[in-house]
Amino acid sequence: MKRIYLSYHYLLIWEILLVDRYVDISQYDFEKALKKFNPRLVKPEGVFEAVYKIPLENGLSIWVYSTIDTQTGVSREKGSDAIRTILMFDDRKIVEAAPKTLRTTNWDDNLIEKIESLIEMTTDYLDPSGHPLIKKKKKDGKGSFYGCALYPECKYIYKGEKPLGDLFSG
Ligand SMILES: [Zn+2]
Repeated sequence: MKRIYLSYHYLLIWEILLVDRYVDISQYDFEKALKKFNPRLVKPEGVFEAVYKIPLENGLSIWVYSTIDTQTGVSREKGSDAIRTILMFDDRKIVEAAPKTLRTTNWDDNLIEKIESLIEMTTDYLDPSGHPLIKKKKKDGKGSFYGCALYPECKYIYKGEKPLGDLFSG
């Protein structure tokens, strides 16, 4: 009896390791997963995968590179690449790229988590040059600070002299 119990677990682990890897994602599945963010399908030149833009405040937006071929409506070869999620300013400047999302069975939850973590970086405030101020993690991983989204073009860092809300319009 014990032996059967063990082999059952062995199979379960085997399944997690091998079967629970990559899944096909249709354009329908993808749009359904992103629905709550009101994404727009955009067509950057020379890109052959469906790209979704989630507009945010102050010229910021999140771009999601789906890996779904717009010709066929299905994801490209499994495992060949992963879903990229990028916080963008003015549709051209990469502010922050989230770690890629693998197309495993829980890809949708993982992707939503990444989109939300990028949204959490954004604020309603602008720096003195009128650029969006974003919340960044310190290099040592301890705490965060507010800095310009256009770094390194603009190196403004909010030093916390006054409460953020009193300082700038946004
Ligand atoms: Zn700036």
